[in-house]
Amino acid sequence: MTPEDLKGLIRSIPDYPKPGIVFRDITTLIGHGEGFAATIDCLAQRAASAKAQAIAGIEARGFIFGAAVAASLSIPFVPLRKPGKLPVPVLAMDYALEYGTDTLEIDPGGIADGQRIVLVDDLIATGGTANAAAELIRKAGGILEQALFVVDLPDLGGAGRLAANGMDVQSLMSFPGD
Ligand code: AMP
Repeated sequence: MTPEDLKGLIRSIPDYPKPGIVFRDITTLIGHGEGFAATIDCLAQRAASAKAQAIAGIEARGFIFGAAVAASLSIPFVPLRKPGKLPVPVLAMDYALEYGTDTLEIDPGGIADGQRIVLVDDLIATGGTANAAAELIRKAGGILEQALFVVDLPDLGGAGRLAANGMDVQSLMSFPGD
């Protein structure tokens, strides 16, 4: 399947979760077996080129793609979790949302010093979530040179912000104008 075919499997919901936002829904992509497999193959090829030694994924949709990529490369998966979910002392990072803040947490024992990590999430918009994830991975001792997304919303500038923070940012498709 081509990237254009994969883009055609994304469901776009106008005015969700609020007026003016077009929600780019990956449910229909992962609900298509061949499309899901092709997506994981594309992401895994890129992570392999970056010589990933582990994949980090952001809860919750980043788990779907990140865990599958890690399994396909037979390398570890490191979850970046919502607060209060990990049963061990964590490293935590707050980040700004459009309204209010949120927090991500990581088990620092999940990453070895100097381990090459590739970050995976479903979508990059402003980049706030991914930048917080990047900070945590680096604080835990990981080397983070690449961030992979299925969808980029380029008008929101997140990919540029991550690139300015020293990452090779790649996505399989983009929706300009969002
Ligand atoms: P951000 O921190 O602004 O880059 O937002 C990224 C996170 O918010 C991703 O993990 C997405 O799951 C979600 N998200 C933001 N905007 C959208 C959108 N238009 N459609 C679907 N998911 C979105």
